Amino acid sequence: MDVILDVCDRHLLTPYVYSTSWQEDDILRQFISLFFITVIGGTLVYIIPATFSYFFIFDHKLKEHPLFLKNQVRREIIYTLNSVPLMAFITTFLFVLEVRGYSKLHSNFTNNALGYAGVAFSVVTFLLFTDMCIYWIHRWLHHKLIYKYIHKFHHMWKVPTPFASHAFHPIDGFLQSCPYHMYAFLFPLNKFVYLAMFVFVNFWTVSIHDGDYRVPPPLEPLVNGSAHHTDHHLFYNYNYGQFFTLWDRIGGSFRTPSAFEGKGPMVEVNRVLRERHDNGKSGKKQTIVEKTTCNGHGYNLRTR
Ligand SMILES: [Zn+2]
Ligand SMILES: [Zn+2]
Repeated sequence: MDVILDVCDRHLLTPYVYSTSWQEDDILRQFISLFFITVIGGTLVYIIPATFSYFFIFDHKLKEHPLFLKNQVRREIIYTLNSVPLMAFITTFLFVLEVRGYSKLHSNFTNNALGYAGVAFSVVTFLLFTDMCIYWIHRWLHHKLIYKYIHKFHHMWKVPTPFASHAFHPIDGFLQSCPYHMYAFLFPLNKFVYLAMFVFVNFWTVSIHDGDYRVPPPLEPLVNGSAHHTDHHLFYNYNYGQFFTLWDRIGGSFRTPSAFEGKGPMVEVNRVLRERHDNGKSGKKQTIVEKTTCNGHGYNLRTR
């Protein structure tokens, strides 16, 4: 974040916002600047990819699913925008430590034994380390003593849209982002690579909520995609992973996505559309949600 803070200081904050007597390295000034940068940056890396994904990737037929909430898209966006400032506030403490030199971020690309291969190695270890930590944090958030206070808000969206990607309780959002910060304090990492990874993980988070259940066949056993994560929203105790299926397989929580078996959310959508077509607008039959559970095996639907 020091790169971004420097640019903001030089071109905006020092000449136009703060008094010239307020030193750029003053800790309170850094905190205030980083807080606003995080709120604005966090909102942009959410709203831009989510909007693009919603209009160009998300299958709008999913909105006909019986578990899709009334005004869900609006509620997802409002929930996220309400959470971002508090999420940013907590995160800013870590960014202040980072810009004050307590992290292991550096600006060298080739100043390591492996050269550019070392950069690629750090990207791989970043993904593996954060995937492992997020798996266990996410699993802990599903503990029955914790779930209802923090994580259940992200499971309001049974059939998520890309706008649900960041719709977390602020503590939940912070905890699940912690591994990205932890990596920078534990392992050497180029600061530009870190920024690129920061943008990437936000895009990825949107992508696993985009309702596009396809994964290139060679990667299907390895990658945790939208099909896996949608089943997590529906069935709760499976597929906690972020990037890979590795820790779900080790932890015994892997479940082959229903969409891969031809039983995904679109089956329900097509059934609803068929019923509506068969019964006309008078709607003699109507699909209703009979039960949703958070401890077992998802939802049951019936018609009446
Ligand atoms: Zn989710
Ligand atoms: Zn969850």
